[in-house]
Amino acid sequence: MFEAFVTLCALGADAHCREVLLPGHAAETRAGCEADLAGAADGLAGLGTAGAPHCGPRPAPGLAFEEVAPGVFVHRGAIAEPGPKNGGDVANVAFVRGADGVVVIDAGGSRAVGEQIYLAVRAVTEAPITHLVLTHMHPDHVLGAAPLAEAGAEIVGHAGLARALADRAETYLDRFRNAIGVEGFLGTAVVAPDRGLAEPLVLDLGDRALTLTPRPKAHTTNDLTVTDSESGLLFAGDLVFATHVPTLDGSLPGWRALLEAMSEGETAAAVVPGHGGPVLAWPEGAEPVARYLSVLESDTRAALDAGLSISEAVPEIGQSEAGNWALFGVYNPRNATQAYTELEWE
Ligand SMILES: [Zn+2]
Repeated sequence: MFEAFVTLCALGADAHCREVLLPGHAAETRAGCEADLAGAADGLAGLGTAGAPHCGPRPAPGLAFEEVAPGVFVHRGAIAEPGPKNGGDVANVAFVRGADGVVVIDAGGSRAVGEQIYLAVRAVTEAPITHLVLTHMHPDHVLGAAPLAEAGAEIVGHAGLARALADRAETYLDRFRNAIGVEGFLGTAVVAPDRGLAEPLVLDLGDRALTLTPRPKAHTTNDLTVTDSESGLLFAGDLVFATHVPTLDGSLPGWRALLEAMSEGETAAAVVPGHGGPVLAWPEGAEPVARYLSVLESDTRAALDAGLSISEAVPEIGQSEAGNWALFGVYNPRNATQAYTELEWE
């Protein structure tokens, strides 16, 4: 198979260039691909200076996906901060193949990661990629969306996702560009979701159905989970973490209550977390997150009761969990700050 590419260079800094894959022009022959290249790189206008699009053999995917159940493929992102080495590949990604098409769940943290997800799907099937489901707004889960949208996917998320992304787009792009580096980040943009869900939605893939469920404020204000009727797998996004310390950007009591309700009331064969795993027993796999959040809340309440200021409290909160998680030193102080600020006003 042949795919379209374009060489994209950073504006004003021609030393930084990247060969960008342009999904949507795949063909069995080079001529078939070339027949359809007019305007292929228009979506990249403003992100750099692009040469003429051209066609070449489809490369092998650079991301490893494991088929964890028939038709369900999961990639485990690096347990790390985004950086030049991982290119923003720091969150889990999945795709589900049904009779009528493929649904991708989350998109990674850069356009380059999204291109690799596309190639990983194409290594398995030429079936249409009908939907990209975004589990929440965080940049490590959404910044790879553009190439999947170009491949034809409708982007679906929580009803609150569009506004949340619009408000944070520049911050997210700056932060990840600085972390990953100009070259690896070339072509990356925030893509607005096509559809926001206030109620659950069933995506019928012919021989299986995916249920998308928007959730109340928890990890963020716009969390959404996916369950697959065939495998029974629950894709929890960042409502469940493994290895990587949980990160709080929504509501601490909200997240705790939601996890408890889901653990008690919702059955699943297993859970795919947003980081780590990539497949955990359900509901046992969510217990470490629930425990961490419980410690975060009780330590914060104790600090507030003792009259500690935020700067006194933050270094104390959650310390008994330090040995249980990777990246604890990076995120626990932010979680403690968030928890203190939220609970202070109750
Ligand atoms: Zn997140």
